[in-house]
Amino acid sequence: MSYRKGSKVWVEEKGEGWVEAEVVEAKDRSAVVVLTSQRKKISVLPEKLLPRDTDENLGGGHVDDMTKLTYLNEPGVLYNLKRRYALNEIYTYTGSILIAVNPFTRLPHLYNEYMMEQYKGVQLGELSPHVFAVADASYRAMLNDSMSQSILVSGESGAGKTETTKLIMRYLTYVGGRAVLDDRSVEQQVLESNPLLEAFGNAKTVRNDNSSRFGKFVEIQFDKSGRISGAAIRTYLLERSRVVQITDPERNFHCFYQLCASGKDAELYKLGHASTFHYLNQSKTYELEGINNEDEYWKTKRAMDIVGISRSDQDAIFRTLAAILHLGNIEFSPGKDSDSSKIKDSTSNFHLQMTATLLMCDPDLLVSSLCTRSIHTNEGIIIKELDCAAAAANRDALSKTIYARLFDWLVENINKSIGQDVDSKAQIGVLDIYGFESFKHNSFEQFCINFANEKLQQHFNEHVFKMEQEEYKSEKINWSYIEFIDNQDMLDLIEKKPIGIIALLDEACMFPKSTHATFASKMFRNLSSHPRLEKTKFSETDFTISHYAGKVTYQTDSFLEKNRDYIVAEHCNLLSSSRCSLVSGLFSSLPEESLRSSYKFSSVASRFKQQLQALMETLSSTEPHYVRCVKPNSVNRPQLFENQSVLHQLRCGGVLEAVRISLAGYPTRRTYAEFVDRFGVLVPELMFGSHDERALTEAVLEKMKLDNFQLGRNKVFLRAGQIAILDVRRAEVL
Ligand code: ADP
Ligand code: MG
Repeated sequence: MSYRKGSKVWVEEKGEGWVEAEVVEAKDRSAVVVLTSQRKKISVLPEKLLPRDTDENLGGGHVDDMTKLTYLNEPGVLYNLKRRYALNEIYTYTGSILIAVNPFTRLPHLYNEYMMEQYKGVQLGELSPHVFAVADASYRAMLNDSMSQSILVSGESGAGKTETTKLIMRYLTYVGGRAVLDDRSVEQQVLESNPLLEAFGNAKTVRNDNSSRFGKFVEIQFDKSGRISGAAIRTYLLERSRVVQITDPERNFHCFYQLCASGKDAELYKLGHASTFHYLNQSKTYELEGINNEDEYWKTKRAMDIVGISRSDQDAIFRTLAAILHLGNIEFSPGKDSDSSKIKDSTSNFHLQMTATLLMCDPDLLVSSLCTRSIHTNEGIIIKELDCAAAAANRDALSKTIYARLFDWLVENINKSIGQDVDSKAQIGVLDIYGFESFKHNSFEQFCINFANEKLQQHFNEHVFKMEQEEYKSEKINWSYIEFIDNQDMLDLIEKKPIGIIALLDEACMFPKSTHATFASKMFRNLSSHPRLEKTKFSETDFTISHYAGKVTYQTDSFLEKNRDYIVAEHCNLLSSSRCSLVSGLFSSLPEESLRSSYKFSSVASRFKQQLQALMETLSSTEPHYVRCVKPNSVNRPQLFENQSVLHQLRCGGVLEAVRISLAGYPTRRTYAEFVDRFGVLVPELMFGSHDERALTEAVLEKMKLDNFQLGRNKVFLRAGQIAILDVRRAEVL
């Protein structure tokens, strides 16, 4: 690319990513001088510059679809988002992908009923970009083609995935709901499942006050006439460690604070302020800005009513939550000898009695299941005493198990209550799942999350790339295939059996003598030749993976422990003996065989892998739609746009890659009939003579002097931007 004086360009600047500049002096071939907005003159090599659209070029400084940019490059995409964001235009298309930048402020005018009505039945792209438009497109496609759809929402924590998902669900329940308002209608139940799951599955983190600590796929089922007839919710990887461990200024799951603030109900369970509980007072943060814990408690109860959870089950649920809080306050002191433990003092004993009362189980059995462990040996069962630290860890394991099962119970019962429409021919699934994560320290959770993102990326690649190519091929048009990055090798590295990271991890977890060091060394031994796996310089046990979105170094320290999902026999016995049917029911589904051995190892990663596999199978039978959420800044403030971080997110989300693909091909395609229907008016002189739609299409394109098109067997394919030109001409003659 050569530049002249006056050329509009982008120049890279530290800290900003890119800035706008203009060439003021084109020296010899090696350097040009550009002027940046700070009135600063600098010399740069021409290859460091990228061409920039002028404002006139963009018709007002920004475009609603990235594919309309003349110079489609990284800074062009970035600044287009930035300018739109400044105007509260938070949505932008990239072809059919919707980018949503979190406004961090309520924009009620964007989401009211009037807006939903506006987008109803309107072709994607005709109105301003909007999440309703994507929801509508999937609804129409589902109705017209009887094909299931999915909407995949991704982005980093705090980017707005959950809010977006809720907006999609609201739109779908609006167009697919009944006109009469009824609290117990399927669509109301579907909507109210959100606050309920958020109460139990969301928590304040440093990134987001309402961060979802689980992944979620909601499948909404429709009957023949397009009315909502059922729904199914699947959840993934609840962060159960949060129940027992939090750091300031994060919080535990919302429901605990709600319950502590619930007044009468809290008294009933002998709960004091949240700060009196170990599981909550590890962090001094108890309140959320703009949120009243007690009000939220009643909202959660109301959601339970609507979703169809009986009052007695509600009591049992909150009783169980209270039991977990009391359980966490039980402390231990050394027993007869230092290898054993006993309940520390009268305070701990009070909490022990409370726990037993609330769980409706025998207090002595609770003590023994906390302070001892039975071990199966060849000689029979021996009872091993646990020291204080082991007893405390055991207590926490019990709390985590109860909570995780309670969460699963909730999901299962929401599903039962809403009901499944087995006759439903078509569904729309909405996926709200954690985006790619890369922190200073990355552990097992990041590993699982990034694995999920690799899976989704493959799906995305396959969809965007292969589907496009298939269509071009089947239409027999010329298309120089652009290269695409397949990440199958990455997935093999993680999930292939018997030698993949997960398989090796499971193997390590099954041998009592393994440590994270033996796991790491075995992994390097077996997978050393894999191009995407590296050892790090400074640690023997860290490993680096080259993900599609960048390199991530994982610390293996707690991999083994986090991958093990113990079912401790004592815990099972204790809880299944509960006189509360909800509590005993949480543990009834365990197979006999798992109860016989004291520890039953079950792999978190392997189960997650299976869940993902099932998800991918579901997704691959649907037509996907993508929404990429972007977090504009790390302080959750409106009107602040941090270039570097947004660029990083666009790369991770595959947005830049998709832009390239979409442009390299022919993003617009119409059957000849459709085309003539719309643009035949441009060749009125031919309309009565010929009935060959292909010939008519060709005539239109020739008359309009367009040359960026290809004629396929059944369809005409147009380059980005061509349809807009035709539309203008059409408007002129109409
Ligand atoms: P994620 O699920 O990606 O972690 P959330 O959907 O919870 O992120 O969004 C984080 C916060 O950002 C929300 O609590 C809300 O305050 C704000 N937010 C997100 N999307 C919107 C939106 N479309 N309009 C207004 N605020 C939003
Ligand atoms: Mg979320």
